[in-house]
Amino acid sequence: MAHVHACDHDHDQPGLSGGALVAGLTAAEARCAAAGQRLTAPRRRVLELLLGSGQPVKAYDLIAAYGAGGEPAKPPTVYRALEFLSRHGFAHRIESLNAYIACGGGSEGHAAAFLICDCCGRTREIAPVGAAEIERLAAERGFTLTGLTVEAHGRCEDCPA
Ligand SMILES: [Zn+2]
Ligand SMILES: [Zn+2]
Repeated sequence: MAHVHACDHDHDQPGLSGGALVAGLTAAEARCAAAGQRLTAPRRRVLELLLGSGQPVKAYDLIAAYGAGGEPAKPPTVYRALEFLSRHGFAHRIESLNAYIACGGGSEGHAAAFLICDCCGRTREIAPVGAAEIERLAAERGFTLTGLTVEAHGRCEDCPA
């Protein structure tokens, strides 16, 4: 599946495959069940594609890659699945790339920060520093925080500046 960026630098594939991919999906199913939600077939398939990529993927690439036999999904199927996965902490939307990335694990609606390489597109989730402070300042203003995502752009260690 095409990544958001492509460069000639050499990278490992960060996505999950084989047993690790199955384990990731099984863990997601267990988390859904514990929360009284259902990892329906479309949600599971979209999460599988995101975990397999390990990188931000645009919705239209998910739609195109959805069918095992190469047939595309109906767009609303994928958008609804992405909405569920994002809302429940299985994936994050990266606004600046207009793409989605699987979450390495975290609670529902957790704050997240991303280091995004503008050369190869490799994107890493890190714990956002200062999230508690933003939550406090928001609460002081009577603001109900429903999401917090920090997107940091630059160059990864494998892409020479
Ligand atoms: Zn996350
Ligand atoms: Zn890079």
